[in-house]
Amino acid sequence: MFNTIYIEEQVANHPRTRELCARFPQAARVSCQRYGEVFNPRAQNFRLQKQQPALILASKHRHRVLAAPNGYGIGSSSNYYFSHMLNCLYDCRYCFLQGMYRSAHYVLYVNYEDFGSDIDCILADNNDTDCWFFSGYDCDSLALEPVSEFTQHFLPFFATRPTAHLELRTKSTQIRSLLHREPLPNVVVAFSFTPGEMHRALEHRVPTVERRLDAMAQLQQAGWLTGLRFDPLIYQDNYREQYRRLFRQVFEHLDADRLHSVSLGTFRLPRAYFKNIVQLYPDEPLFAGAFAETCGMVSYPPELEQELNAFCTEELLRYIPEQLLFPCSLAA
Ligand code: SF4
Repeated sequence: MFNTIYIEEQVANHPRTRELCARFPQAARVSCQRYGEVFNPRAQNFRLQKQQPALILASKHRHRVLAAPNGYGIGSSSNYYFSHMLNCLYDCRYCFLQGMYRSAHYVLYVNYEDFGSDIDCILADNNDTDCWFFSGYDCDSLALEPVSEFTQHFLPFFATRPTAHLELRTKSTQIRSLLHREPLPNVVVAFSFTPGEMHRALEHRVPTVERRLDAMAQLQQAGWLTGLRFDPLIYQDNYREQYRRLFRQVFEHLDADRLHSVSLGTFRLPRAYFKNIVQLYPDEPLFAGAFAETCGMVSYPPELEQELNAFCTEELLRYIPEQLLFPCSLAA
Protein backbone atom coordinates (compact mmCIF):
# COMPACT_ATOMS: atom_id res chain seq x y z
CA MET A 1 0.00 0.00 0.00
CA PHE A 2 2.86 2.40 0.81
CA ASN A 3 6.24 2.39 -0.92
CA THR A 4 7.72 4.75 1.63
CA ILE A 5 7.08 5.54 5.28
CA TYR A 6 8.68 8.71 6.61
CA ILE A 7 9.14 8.64 10.37
CA GLU A 8 9.75 11.59 12.63
CA GLU A 9 12.68 10.88 14.92
CA GLN A 10 10.65 11.56 18.04
CA VAL A 11 7.98 8.96 17.21
CA ALA A 12 10.42 6.31 15.95
CA ASN A 13 9.85 4.20 19.06
CA HIS A 14 6.18 4.99 19.55
CA PRO A 15 4.18 1.72 19.79
CA ARG A 16 1.87 2.84 16.95
CA THR A 17 4.90 3.55 14.73
CA ARG A 18 6.43 0.18 15.50
CA GLU A 19 3.17 -1.60 14.79
CA LEU A 20 2.63 0.21 11.48
CA CYS A 21 6.18 -0.46 10.32
CA ALA A 22 5.70 -4.13 11.14
CA ARG A 23 2.52 -4.20 9.07
CA PHE A 24 4.20 -2.70 5.99
CA PRO A 25 7.61 -4.41 6.06
CA GLN A 26 8.19 -3.89 2.34
CA ALA A 27 7.98 -0.08 2.60
CA ALA A 28 11.22 1.88 2.62
CA ARG A 29 11.67 3.76 5.90
CA VAL A 30 13.07 7.25 5.89
CA SER A 31 13.81 9.14 9.05
CA CYS A 32 13.16 12.89 9.32
CA GLN A 33 13.46 15.41 12.11
CA ARG A 34 10.05 17.04 11.60
CA TYR A 35 7.40 15.97 9.10
CA GLY A 36 7.25 19.47 7.64
CA GLU A 37 10.59 18.82 5.94
CA VAL A 38 8.80 16.29 3.74
CA PHE A 39 5.29 17.70 3.69
CA ASN A 40 5.72 21.44 3.38
CA PRO A 41 8.27 22.22 0.62
CA ARG A 42 6.59 24.26 -2.10
CA ALA A 43 8.25 22.48 -5.01
CA GLN A 44 5.84 19.53 -4.87
CA ASN A 45 2.93 18.61 -7.09
CA PHE A 46 -0.18 17.44 -5.28
CA ARG A 47 -1.58 15.91 -8.43
CA LEU A 48 1.53 13.80 -9.12
CA GLN A 49 1.97 12.73 -5.50
CA LYS A 50 -1.66 11.66 -5.36
CA GLN A 51 -0.73 8.75 -7.66
CA GLN A 52 1.42 7.13 -4.96
CA PRO A 53 1.31 8.93 -1.63
CA ALA A 54 3.76 8.02 1.10
CA LEU A 55 2.83 7.64 4.76
CA ILE A 56 4.35 10.11 7.21
CA LEU A 57 4.25 9.21 10.90
CA ALA A 58 4.49 12.26 13.09
CA SER A 59 3.54 13.84 16.37
CA LYS A 60 1.08 16.72 16.60
CA HIS A 61 2.54 19.16 19.10
CA ARG A 62 0.02 21.99 19.32
CA HIS A 63 -3.42 23.07 18.14
CA ARG A 64 -4.62 19.51 18.31
CA VAL A 65 -8.26 20.24 19.12
CA LEU A 66 -9.60 23.57 17.89
CA ALA A 67 -12.79 25.53 18.33
CA ALA A 68 -15.00 25.19 15.26
CA PRO A 69 -15.93 28.44 13.52
CA ASN A 70 -19.20 30.08 14.58
CA GLY A 71 -22.14 28.54 12.80
CA TYR A 72 -20.40 25.21 12.27
CA GLY A 73 -22.12 22.27 13.87
CA ILE A 74 -25.36 20.42 14.30
CA GLY A 75 -27.24 22.27 16.97
CA SER A 76 -24.76 22.60 19.85
CA SER A 77 -23.03 25.82 20.89
CA SER A 78 -19.79 24.03 21.92
CA ASN A 79 -18.12 22.70 18.80
CA TYR A 80 -14.53 21.57 18.26
CA TYR A 81 -12.67 19.80 15.53
CA PHE A 82 -9.55 17.70 15.32
CA SER A 83 -7.64 15.77 12.69
CA HIS A 84 -5.62 12.69 13.45
CA MET A 85 -4.55 12.71 9.78
CA LEU A 86 -3.86 15.12 6.96
CA ASN A 87 -5.03 14.13 3.47
CA CYS A 88 -7.30 11.46 2.19
CA LEU A 89 -7.41 8.19 0.31
CA TYR A 90 -9.99 9.60 -2.06
CA ASP A 91 -9.59 12.26 -4.71
CA CYS A 92 -12.60 14.56 -4.89
CA ARG A 93 -12.10 17.30 -7.40
CA TYR A 94 -13.71 19.89 -5.11
CA CYS A 95 -11.68 18.90 -2.01
CA PHE A 96 -10.09 21.85 -0.21
CA LEU A 97 -7.14 19.70 0.93
CA GLN A 98 -5.60 19.77 -2.55
CA GLY A 99 -5.69 23.57 -2.43
CA MET A 100 -4.41 23.79 1.13
CA TYR A 101 -1.46 21.38 0.96
CA ARG A 102 1.35 21.09 -1.56
CA SER A 103 1.82 17.44 -0.66
CA ALA A 104 -0.63 14.57 -1.08
CA HIS A 105 1.30 12.32 1.32
CA TYR A 106 -0.72 11.04 4.27
CA VAL A 107 0.39 12.47 7.60
CA LEU A 108 -0.73 10.31 10.50
CA TYR A 109 -0.28 11.80 13.96
CA VAL A 110 0.41 8.81 16.13
CA ASN A 111 0.07 10.59 19.49
CA TYR A 112 -3.65 9.86 19.86
CA GLU A 113 -3.35 9.98 23.65
CA ASP A 114 -2.42 13.70 23.49
CA PHE A 115 -5.56 14.43 21.45
CA GLY A 116 -7.52 12.62 24.18
CA SER A 117 -5.89 14.71 26.92
CA ASP A 118 -6.81 17.90 25.06
CA ILE A 119 -10.41 16.73 24.71
CA ASP A 120 -10.50 16.03 28.45
CA CYS A 121 -9.21 19.57 29.19
CA ILE A 122 -11.95 21.04 26.98
CA LEU A 123 -14.60 18.96 28.74
CA ALA A 124 -13.31 20.13 32.12
CA ASP A 125 -13.30 23.78 30.93
CA ASN A 126 -16.93 23.30 29.86
CA ASN A 127 -17.83 21.84 33.29
CA ASP A 128 -18.61 18.54 31.57
CA THR A 129 -21.57 19.99 29.68
CA ASP A 130 -22.23 18.59 26.21
CA CYS A 131 -19.53 19.33 23.62
CA TRP A 132 -19.22 18.17 20.03
CA PHE A 133 -15.95 17.03 18.49
CA PHE A 134 -15.81 16.79 14.70
CA SER A 135 -13.21 14.46 13.25
CA GLY A 136 -12.53 14.10 9.55
CA TYR A 137 -11.88 17.77 8.94
CA ASP A 138 -8.50 17.39 7.20
CA CYS A 139 -9.12 13.78 6.17
CA ASP A 140 -11.90 11.20 5.94
CA SER A 141 -12.65 9.78 9.40
CA LEU A 142 -12.91 6.14 8.32
CA ALA A 143 -11.27 5.68 4.90
CA LEU A 144 -7.86 4.71 6.28
CA GLU A 145 -9.20 2.92 9.37
CA PRO A 146 -7.37 -0.34 8.58
CA VAL A 147 -4.12 1.64 8.78
CA SER A 148 -4.90 4.27 11.40
CA GLU A 149 -7.16 2.26 13.74
CA PHE A 150 -8.59 5.64 14.67
CA THR A 151 -11.97 4.36 15.82
CA GLN A 152 -10.43 1.42 17.62
CA HIS A 153 -8.70 3.95 19.85
CA PHE A 154 -11.25 6.75 20.04
CA LEU A 155 -14.53 4.86 20.40
CA PRO A 156 -13.55 3.38 23.78
CA PHE A 157 -12.36 6.86 24.75
CA PHE A 158 -15.70 8.49 23.90
CA ALA A 159 -17.61 5.56 25.44
CA THR A 160 -16.45 6.69 28.87
CA ARG A 161 -17.20 10.38 28.28
CA PRO A 162 -20.95 10.67 27.71
CA THR A 163 -20.98 14.47 27.45
CA ALA A 164 -18.42 14.37 24.63
CA HIS A 165 -20.10 13.82 21.26
CA LEU A 166 -18.10 12.63 18.28
CA GLU A 167 -18.94 13.04 14.61
CA LEU A 168 -17.18 10.61 12.27
CA ARG A 169 -17.50 12.12 8.80
CA THR A 170 -16.89 9.84 5.88
CA LYS A 171 -17.47 8.74 2.31
CA SER A 172 -16.05 5.35 3.14
CA THR A 173 -17.61 1.94 3.64
CA GLN A 174 -14.99 0.95 6.24
CA ILE A 175 -17.54 0.22 8.93
CA ARG A 176 -16.34 -3.16 10.17
CA SER A 177 -14.75 -1.70 13.30
CA LEU A 178 -18.10 -0.05 14.16
CA LEU A 179 -20.22 -3.12 13.49
CA HIS A 180 -17.98 -5.12 15.83
CA ARG A 181 -18.83 -2.81 18.74
CA GLU A 182 -21.92 -1.83 20.64
CA PRO A 183 -23.25 1.45 19.24
CA LEU A 184 -22.51 4.55 21.29
CA PRO A 185 -25.24 7.12 21.96
CA ASN A 186 -22.71 9.98 21.71
CA VAL A 187 -21.22 9.08 18.31
CA VAL A 188 -22.73 9.98 14.93
CA VAL A 189 -21.47 8.42 11.72
CA ALA A 190 -22.15 11.03 9.05
CA PHE A 191 -21.93 10.17 5.36
CA SER A 192 -21.45 12.77 2.61
CA PHE A 193 -23.19 12.49 -0.74
CA THR A 194 -23.47 14.19 -4.08
CA PRO A 195 -25.76 12.83 -6.83
CA GLY A 196 -24.55 9.78 -8.78
CA GLU A 197 -23.60 11.75 -11.90
CA MET A 198 -21.50 14.18 -9.86
CA HIS A 199 -19.98 11.30 -7.91
CA ARG A 200 -18.81 9.65 -11.11
CA ALA A 201 -17.39 12.87 -12.50
CA LEU A 202 -15.86 14.37 -9.37
CA GLU A 203 -15.36 11.89 -6.53
CA HIS A 204 -12.56 9.68 -7.78
CA ARG A 205 -11.96 6.44 -5.85
CA VAL A 206 -14.96 7.15 -3.58
CA PRO A 207 -17.37 4.19 -3.11
CA THR A 208 -20.58 4.53 -5.10
CA VAL A 209 -23.67 6.16 -3.64
CA GLU A 210 -25.28 2.70 -3.43
CA ARG A 211 -22.39 1.19 -1.47
CA ARG A 212 -22.34 4.08 0.97
CA LEU A 213 -26.09 3.81 1.47
CA ASP A 214 -25.74 0.08 2.13
CA ALA A 215 -23.07 0.82 4.74
CA MET A 216 -25.30 3.44 6.35
CA ALA A 217 -28.29 1.10 6.42
CA GLN A 218 -26.17 -1.58 8.11
CA LEU A 219 -25.07 0.90 10.75
CA GLN A 220 -28.66 2.01 11.31
CA GLN A 221 -29.74 -1.60 11.74
CA ALA A 222 -26.93 -2.13 14.23
CA GLY A 223 -28.22 0.84 16.24
CA TRP A 224 -25.63 3.50 15.36
CA LEU A 225 -26.69 7.12 15.03
CA THR A 226 -26.21 8.20 11.42
CA GLY A 227 -26.17 11.55 9.67
CA LEU A 228 -26.39 12.81 6.11
CA ARG A 229 -24.11 15.54 4.81
CA PHE A 230 -24.95 17.12 1.46
CA ASP A 231 -21.87 19.25 1.37
CA PRO A 232 -20.84 20.56 -1.04
CA LEU A 233 -24.05 21.12 -2.95
CA ILE A 234 -22.94 21.57 -6.55
CA TYR A 235 -24.69 23.62 -9.19
CA GLN A 236 -25.19 22.13 -12.63
CA ASP A 237 -27.83 22.91 -15.23
CA ASN A 238 -29.88 19.86 -14.31
CA TYR A 239 -29.13 19.95 -10.58
CA ARG A 240 -32.83 19.78 -9.69
CA GLU A 241 -33.31 16.39 -11.32
CA GLN A 242 -30.04 15.11 -9.92
CA TYR A 243 -30.69 16.11 -6.31
CA ARG A 244 -34.34 15.06 -6.45
CA ARG A 245 -33.22 11.62 -7.63
CA LEU A 246 -30.48 11.41 -4.98
CA PHE A 247 -32.83 12.30 -2.12
CA ARG A 248 -35.38 9.77 -3.33
CA GLN A 249 -32.68 7.08 -3.50
CA VAL A 250 -31.32 7.99 -0.05
CA PHE A 251 -34.67 7.86 1.70
CA GLU A 252 -35.68 4.64 -0.06
CA HIS A 253 -32.58 3.01 1.45
CA LEU A 254 -32.53 4.55 4.90
CA ASP A 255 -34.84 4.78 7.86
CA ALA A 256 -35.45 8.53 8.15
CA ASP A 257 -36.67 8.04 11.73
CA ARG A 258 -33.24 6.79 12.72
CA LEU A 259 -31.37 9.78 11.32
CA HIS A 260 -29.60 11.96 13.80
CA SER A 261 -29.05 14.99 11.58
CA VAL A 262 -28.87 16.22 8.00
CA SER A 263 -26.70 19.13 6.97
CA LEU A 264 -26.09 20.90 3.71
CA GLY A 265 -23.80 23.59 2.39
CA THR A 266 -23.05 24.92 -1.06
CA PHE A 267 -19.64 24.66 -2.74
CA ARG A 268 -17.22 27.19 -1.27
CA LEU A 269 -13.46 27.47 -0.90
CA PRO A 270 -11.01 30.03 0.44
CA ARG A 271 -9.74 32.08 -2.51
CA ALA A 272 -6.11 30.90 -2.24
CA TYR A 273 -7.16 27.23 -2.20
CA PHE A 274 -9.51 27.77 -5.14
CA LYS A 275 -6.68 29.32 -7.13
CA ASN A 276 -4.34 26.42 -6.34
CA ILE A 277 -6.92 23.82 -7.34
CA VAL A 278 -7.69 25.55 -10.63
CA GLN A 279 -3.95 25.53 -11.37
CA LEU A 280 -3.86 21.79 -10.71
CA TYR A 281 -6.94 21.08 -12.85
CA PRO A 282 -7.31 23.93 -15.36
CA ASP A 283 -9.65 21.89 -17.61
CA GLU A 284 -12.03 20.77 -14.86
CA PRO A 285 -15.58 21.84 -15.88
CA LEU A 286 -16.52 22.25 -12.18
CA PHE A 287 -14.41 25.42 -12.06
CA ALA A 288 -15.61 26.83 -15.37
CA GLY A 289 -18.95 28.11 -14.04
CA ALA A 290 -19.85 31.45 -12.50
CA PHE A 291 -18.26 32.18 -9.11
CA ALA A 292 -18.25 35.12 -6.76
CA GLU A 293 -15.85 36.10 -4.01
CA THR A 294 -17.00 37.33 -0.60
CA CYS A 295 -14.62 37.96 2.31
CA GLY A 296 -11.91 35.78 0.77
CA MET A 297 -14.27 32.86 0.03
CA VAL A 298 -15.09 31.77 -3.50
CA SER A 299 -18.59 30.36 -3.97
CA TYR A 300 -21.49 30.58 -6.38
CA PRO A 301 -23.03 34.00 -6.97
CA PRO A 302 -25.57 34.72 -4.18
CA GLU A 303 -28.65 34.19 -6.35
CA LEU A 304 -27.42 30.75 -7.52
CA GLU A 305 -26.42 29.81 -3.99
CA GLN A 306 -29.83 30.77 -2.63
CA GLU A 307 -31.61 28.94 -5.40
CA LEU A 308 -29.60 25.75 -4.83
CA ASN A 309 -30.01 25.91 -1.05
CA ALA A 310 -33.70 26.68 -1.20
CA PHE A 311 -34.40 23.86 -3.65
CA CYS A 312 -32.46 21.25 -1.69
CA THR A 313 -33.92 22.39 1.63
CA GLU A 314 -37.45 22.16 0.30
CA GLU A 315 -36.84 18.73 -1.19
CA LEU A 316 -35.22 17.39 1.99
CA LEU A 317 -38.10 18.62 4.11
CA ARG A 318 -40.34 16.22 2.21
CA TYR A 319 -38.50 13.44 4.02
CA ILE A 320 -37.31 14.79 7.36
CA PRO A 321 -38.57 17.21 10.02
CA GLU A 322 -37.06 20.68 10.06
CA GLN A 323 -35.34 20.15 13.41
CA LEU A 324 -33.00 17.58 11.84
CA LEU A 325 -31.78 19.95 9.15
CA PHE A 326 -28.70 22.14 9.67
CA PRO A 327 -27.42 24.53 7.00
CA CYS A 328 -23.68 25.19 6.93
CA SER A 329 -22.20 28.21 5.19
CA LEU A 330 -18.64 27.92 6.47
CA ALA A 331 -15.45 26.49 5.00
CA ALA A 332 -15.85 22.84 3.98
S1 SF4 B 1 -13.61 12.31 0.84
FE1 SF4 B 1 -13.55 14.36 1.75
S2 SF4 B 1 -11.45 14.60 2.47
FE2 SF4 B 1 -11.46 12.88 1.03
S3 SF4 B 1 -10.91 13.76 -0.97
FE3 SF4 B 1 -13.15 13.73 -0.83
S4 SF4 B 1 -13.70 15.77 0.00
FE4 SF4 B 1 -11.51 15.44 0.39
